[in-house]
Amino acid sequence: MIEAPHLSADAHGLLGNLEELIGTGWVRSSGPETIDVVDPSSGHVAGTIPGSTTDDVARAVAAARAGFDSDAWSGLNPSERSRALHRLTDVLAEHAEALAEIGTLEVGSPITLSRGLHAGAPISFFRWFADAALKGPMGGYEESLGLNDVPVLTTSMLFREPVGVVAAISAYNFPLLITSFKVGGALAAGCTAVLMPSPRTPLSAIAFAACAREADLPPGTIQVLVGGAGIGQALTTAPGVDMVTFTGSVEVGRNVMEQASRGLKKVVLELGGKSPNVLLPSADIQTAVGPSVLRFVRNSGQGCGATTRTLVPREWYDEYAAAAKQVIDSLVVGDPWDEKTDLGPVIRGDHRDRVEGYVQRAIDGGGVVLAGGGRPDIGEGFYLNPTLVGGVDNDAEICQEELFGPVGVLLPYDDVDDALRIANGTRFGLNANVWGATDDAIRFARRLKAGTVTVNGGGSDRPDAPWPGAGESGIGVDRGMEGFREFFHIRHVQVPLAGIGR
Ligand code: NAD
Repeated sequence: MIEAPHLSADAHGLLGNLEELIGTGWVRSSGPETIDVVDPSSGHVAGTIPGSTTDDVARAVAAARAGFDSDAWSGLNPSERSRALHRLTDVLAEHAEALAEIGTLEVGSPITLSRGLHAGAPISFFRWFADAALKGPMGGYEESLGLNDVPVLTTSMLFREPVGVVAAISAYNFPLLITSFKVGGALAAGCTAVLMPSPRTPLSAIAFAACAREADLPPGTIQVLVGGAGIGQALTTAPGVDMVTFTGSVEVGRNVMEQASRGLKKVVLELGGKSPNVLLPSADIQTAVGPSVLRFVRNSGQGCGATTRTLVPREWYDEYAAAAKQVIDSLVVGDPWDEKTDLGPVIRGDHRDRVEGYVQRAIDGGGVVLAGGGRPDIGEGFYLNPTLVGGVDNDAEICQEELFGPVGVLLPYDDVDDALRIANGTRFGLNANVWGATDDAIRFARRLKAGTVTVNGGGSDRPDAPWPGAGESGIGVDRGMEGFREFFHIRHVQVPLAGIGR
């Protein structure tokens, strides 16, 4: 039972029947393990839910395997599958406000942010995959190779078939959004899925499972397990799993890859970032500074694509720092249920300590806090003020490690080549912003080591766009057509042309 005064009756309805959900195969638990659901805004335990056991992993994988092998889901034709996914999306949309509330409760995101991040965006991604199920992946479900310029005369067909059982493991920061392109993509392809959310934010997955049941998806289509590393290890090594799609940290991503490699399973890894935000000499400080700050403090900095390293021409350093201070001072840190709040808490107390440790070590090494900093004096929640640190080099720990908190650094550069060297001076390569004259910015963007680059603010999330990572930011792709394609394997069928061959 989850006790949270801010949750509506609808949200309680999605979560309130945990025992029943567990009994019907959506969330499976047979053991004594429990998981505390902590409300980061108060630091209190909002409820305790049953945790999965390794026996549950075996049962969930067997159910997903049976669901896939029986054709109950994979055998549906594209229009039937698309209709079922539209039904699921409609159900999610009916519960949109409840899903936003659940995001605020477990992640601590301000409710105004949650409505987009934990409800609107995932719903639009599910909708996009519902449409993609009908159209098929890039190239279609079936593609004729045609008579290309090769010395072979055959009718050759390519068939794209669902990979099979997909284990989808997600990070805590955008639980339903990650579910939307991992599980949404898998189901659209005809795969069945076993979803394992972070044990720090299990409720969105449980609410999702309740919605899937309400949408009457066939049994076996989706299973939800709730656990930590041990359960993840059992899931990624289970012989019945064909593919592992993971979002999380580099360290855990390495473990996941190693675990999955034993069964030679297909792997997609979406990992961390230390992304640059570059103001070119043709940029305008006043235009760029507001969004530049918001992009590293949004969701209290708990975003893989947070652009935490801001690069400015050396002579602009003081002016930019002053402008950023004005923006940072205007941000409201506090109760995520208050519509005026800009930044809620971070996920846990130990995580806050970790972020503060990075800032302290930067200061000990000669860095300075240019704006914000410290903890606000608000109850027992895990709050942190947004912070901009200066006086450090790009090779400092705070510039190289992902903090996953509302902390950015300001770095000066001498010329555009120097800016490029600093921007690309990272083991990651996930995201970047570039500000300046459009031509300059696009030219610069094309030289960046980053899967996604927004120029002059870019635009809102496109469900059809891929989200790839270079370097240690990942392997394979989530989202968009390229992401959808990951859930297929390909079969080539070759037939001699009539009258030719044997
Ligand atoms: P994490 O790596 O600590 O945990 C991610 C998931 O892995 C959790 O569900 C956890 O239970 C599970 N896990 C732990 N050990 C495992 C194991 N041995 N086998 C299988 N699963 C295991 O990450 P987090 O703290 O939840 O999330 C923050 C990280 O996620 C950041 O590094 C962030 O950049 C990254 N992230 C990346 C993207 C992206 O698209 N690139 C998006 C969101 C978050």
